Amino acid sequence: MSKALFVNMLGHGHVNPTIGIVRELINRGEDVTYIAGEEFRDKIEKTGAKFIGHKNLFDLSSLITSSLNLETNEKLLNALNTFKEIIEEIFKLDKKFDYIIYDSSFVLGEEVGRVLNIPTISSSSIFAINEKIIKSLLDLPISQEFKLKMEGAKPKIKEILSSHNYVDFVNELQEKYNIKFPSMVDRSGKKGMLNIVYTSKYFQPYSESFDESYKFIGSSVIDRKESIDFDLSNNEDKKVIYISLGTIFNNSIEFYECCFKAFCNMNVKVIMSVGRKIDISIFKNIPSNFIVRNYVPQLEVLKYADVFITHGGMNSTNEGLYFNIPLILIPQSVDQPFVANRVAELGAGIVIEKNRVTPEVLNKCVAEILSDDNFKINSEKIGESLRESGGYKVGVDEIIKLKDSMK
Ligand code: UDP
Repeated sequence: MSKALFVNMLGHGHVNPTIGIVRELINRGEDVTYIAGEEFRDKIEKTGAKFIGHKNLFDLSSLITSSLNLETNEKLLNALNTFKEIIEEIFKLDKKFDYIIYDSSFVLGEEVGRVLNIPTISSSSIFAINEKIIKSLLDLPISQEFKLKMEGAKPKIKEILSSHNYVDFVNELQEKYNIKFPSMVDRSGKKGMLNIVYTSKYFQPYSESFDESYKFIGSSVIDRKESIDFDLSNNEDKKVIYISLGTIFNNSIEFYECCFKAFCNMNVKVIMSVGRKIDISIFKNIPSNFIVRNYVPQLEVLKYADVFITHGGMNSTNEGLYFNIPLILIPQSVDQPFVANRVAELGAGIVIEKNRVTPEVLNKCVAEILSDDNFKINSEKIGESLRESGGYKVGVDEIIKLKDSMK
């Protein structure tokens, strides 16, 4: 039995796809210690892994908003403290690990592996990233607003990087743990010895530009052992629309109100997840054909959906396509424009810019998706590639192969 260290620092979208891998490692007799935000304790402990929680101060959505508004560097410092807390936990542990698996956002993963002298495996719940991908993301028309904001934020970022808080943080990691904090301007993403990506080679843009250490294992869809508390089996032939903006960039009340107007008079059933930050009682007139929840068991609902209106988060997109569902994508931030663009490029959905969303546009796009079979056919094609990539079993085969080759 070998000892694996798993490190994650962001939200559900980064933890969910790893669950299958962890369960499978444990089934094959590995001992797994998993460090992640405290809110994931229950989810991770159910796999049989030993769990260590951190405070998870890394609030991606407010970090992006605040740094772009040039307001404060407090959010960034919170993120740095999360890195520090994780590193302290790792070096406090009285355990000799045989390998480390880390979410690709945990940019210190390679460094930890180097210091502990163990193999490193990156787990990427977003598309694999290299310079080619970043250039093509920033060139998209839909990314121009984001690009301009980033340009505007440069002086602030420079200021933060020379602030004593940041410099002290970098020095402390170096002196106490021999860990070098990577350059914040290096945008190419950190590579592990093995790089597991939870999508298919077909769906990954420019997949030919990645070397053999990248393994595209498809959507990591597993039975989450969740059930729905409403009936979707008898819909009197009504089409089912599922709407979710994910778990991070999900608090646009205006958007949800817009959905009410778009579909209240349509002969469809709508399931809408509004996220945990919204109090549903603020919606005074929820149409009778809507079911609105703070959280829904997405994988269960997707089994019945005919159209999925999503923010284009990588997991939601992979999950929707895994179930052959055409998508309407309304990207909110980060990599979502890129994911959305890829879906449209392969003919499996329609992208709407978030500031162009109106009830009429939403209604028209749903009608278009439901009347043109090509969206469904193209979604099935990507879905097939995702289902056939091997999933968590192949991921674990690769991890074990790497571990054995390093003995
Ligand atoms: N999710 C869910 N129920 C919800 C909302 C989200 O199960 O009501 C899950 C969804 O299945 C996916 C994850 O949360 O696995 C969201 O990840 P994604 O990458 O799509 O978006 P993010 O939340 O990271 O923006």
